Amino acid sequence: MGPPNGGAPTGDKNGASKPPVPSKLAPYINGDDRRHCGLCASSLGEEAIVAMNRLWHPDHFLCNGCKKPIRQTFQAADNQAYCVHCFSERFNPKCAGCHEILIDTCLLALDKHWHPRCFTCNCCRRPLPNGEYYLVDDKPYDLDCHWEKRLDKRTQVVKERQHYGDF
Ligand SMILES: [Zn+2]
Ligand SMILES: [Zn+2]
Ligand SMILES: [Zn+2]
Ligand SMILES: [Zn+2]
Repeated sequence: MGPPNGGAPTGDKNGASKPPVPSKLAPYINGDDRRHCGLCASSLGEEAIVAMNRLWHPDHFLCNGCKKPIRQTFQAADNQAYCVHCFSERFNPKCAGCHEILIDTCLLALDKHWHPRCFTCNCCRRPLPNGEYYLVDDKPYDLDCHWEKRLDKRTQVVKERQHYGDF
């Protein structure tokens, strides 16, 4: 006589007679849907990697940018994985001077990001020391050039006034 259909086990009286079974990690069984790849959804073999709370074939954990397998480190954004290169390309600011991606340090000046070497005086083109600059006509100048520029402007204005004065 078996248990009634659909009936839940009601005790361990019968189980007590069996030897205790040590709990093991479930072995991989073909078709076991607990172990399938996050990309191709087919079952995983011995080698699988865990990332982004999923399992993947080692070649199927892809960068969302270049779509190449990520071999080592990755960075996540918006629930997507990126290789380090693509991550910085997408999410790091670009230098306003040379338009390359900024990796490490950058200056924030005039509402833009710069390599320290790319943030230069608008006159002599030398990098501005410590990113300190003087603004003339919305352009950055170092201390020396900024004085020249300001004196320039003054003499210009004076000349114009004189010109108008001739009429
Ligand atoms: Zn796969
Ligand atoms: Zn990539
Ligand atoms: Zn630059
Ligand atoms: Zn200068």
